[in-house]
Amino acid sequence: MKAYKELGKEELLALREDLNKQYEEAKAKGLKLDMSRGKPSSAQLDMEKDFLGMVISDADVTTETGVDCRNYGLLDGIPEAKKLLADMLGVSPDNVIVFGNSSLSVMYDTVARSMVLGVLGNTPWCKLDKVKFLCPVPGYDRHFAITEQFGIEMINIPMSENGPDMDLVEKYVEEDPAVKGIWCVPKYSNPQGYTYSNETVKRFAALRPAAEDFRIFWDNAYAIHDLYEDKSDDLLEILSECEKAGNPDMVYEFCSTSKVTFPGAGIAGIVASAANIAQIKAVMTIQTIGYDKLNQLRHVKYFKNIEGMRAHMMKHAQIIRPKFEAIENVLSEELGELKIGSWTKPVGGYFISFDAMEGCAKEIVQKCKEAGVVLTGAGATFPYKKDPQDSNIRIAPTYPSEEELRVATDLFVLCVKLVSVEKLLKSMEA
Ligand code: PMP
Repeated sequence: MKAYKELGKEELLALREDLNKQYEEAKAKGLKLDMSRGKPSSAQLDMEKDFLGMVISDADVTTETGVDCRNYGLLDGIPEAKKLLADMLGVSPDNVIVFGNSSLSVMYDTVARSMVLGVLGNTPWCKLDKVKFLCPVPGYDRHFAITEQFGIEMINIPMSENGPDMDLVEKYVEEDPAVKGIWCVPKYSNPQGYTYSNETVKRFAALRPAAEDFRIFWDNAYAIHDLYEDKSDDLLEILSECEKAGNPDMVYEFCSTSKVTFPGAGIAGIVASAANIAQIKAVMTIQTIGYDKLNQLRHVKYFKNIEGMRAHMMKHAQIIRPKFEAIENVLSEELGELKIGSWTKPVGGYFISFDAMEGCAKEIVQKCKEAGVVLTGAGATFPYKKDPQDSNIRIAPTYPSEEELRVATDLFVLCVKLVSVEKLLKSMEA
């Protein structure tokens, strides 16, 4: 098959007619499929039966230090849960606080605390005329929603396979004191599945921010979410890199077990320097009496240690991997030679990122929706939901079954073809 751009008008018109026919047939099937959010499938959730059924016996409710998890105490988490999260991220348990069931709420609180109370004695951000955040794009819509809600101005930073454009990051961070933060998903990024290179991490650690209270928001949501045993990405540990570079306080790292055990019922954590941890704990003392230590204990008893957790992640991988591969196969078979889109081939995480021809993403997502396949809204991967190229679409392969996924991907490629042909025809008329 020739690249679509090489086709003449007559060929394109004939192609459109054929694709339209296929589309109407697909629509008549009355599909009802959802590829919009990065949710585990029920097969993955069913794997956790033992976890759910695990009743912690009365004799079993104390931490290794003898604290009764049924009672108040240990505001910053039980020691063995700190160790589990620390091992997940390659840091010391002293740098960890264990929170409740969602890392997103920890990120929200971190921005809110900085707004209202300030960062380590600096002026609260809400008292400043302007606060800006850098946003590597495409990125995670819920990050952008937080900064948007607080009226923080968001600046797009293009991503590459190695991470954000560091020349731009350095320029903004080192020249503009209103730049207070950057959202990062450094491993298996949402949505591209890219992992920041060692050089990128080192350049982050070596930043010389114009603002003393500039912080890197390092959302390591997919730290152990490899798809393959024999090929995985490695991410340099940033806290120690920042320390080495003389910037110990510059990073807040976030994580959770939402996609290890249960979304919404896992444990979340923050990793930071001693000074940052002390400030966060001081605020927590006012904010809460403590989080669910029984859930923390349940996680530790279920996995035992990081090796147990990693082995468990390979079981997830067995379920998820074929789905990623099925999508990759359909995309490369159907679109490989047409030159109307490109996509990422991650070896971990929860997403594939697809870039359509400029000006086509919204229409593709709309057409899929009309035929019963829901995708993440076009634009959602950019601040203010505005993709300047209207080209990026996030594909979330995990939730549908393999069979459903094939049907959904077939429809997706059909819509990509149809919208691209229409776009090319329009550009001929113009
Ligand atoms: N960060 C990223 C990058 C995510 O993709 C997600 C889930 N989609 C989250 C955070 C949410 O994590 P949690 O369930 O711990 O709030």
